[in-house]
Amino acid sequence: MTEAPASTRVVLRPIEPGSQVICASCARPIKFSAKSKARQVIANVYENGTWQRVEHYHEECYIALGEPYGEAASPEWRR
Ligand SMILES: [Zn+2]
Repeated sequence: MTEAPASTRVVLRPIEPGSQVICASCARPIKFSAKSKARQVIANVYENGTWQRVEHYHEECYIALGEPYGEAASPEWRR
């Protein structure tokens, strides 16, 4: 028996003012907006039990992709 490898984790977070990250799906900036209170999905991607990279998505883009890394960890998800 071997231990289960570390796996990709996804969380749903508010977009911070001054954020300069790019969505891994649509390649557009994920920008803070005081009006929309938009959220982003942050994925810590593991392959073969090893951390590879962080990916950022617009919440709607992540859903449109079919949630490739599973549901983001948030009690507000799917409301
Ligand atoms: Zn996007």
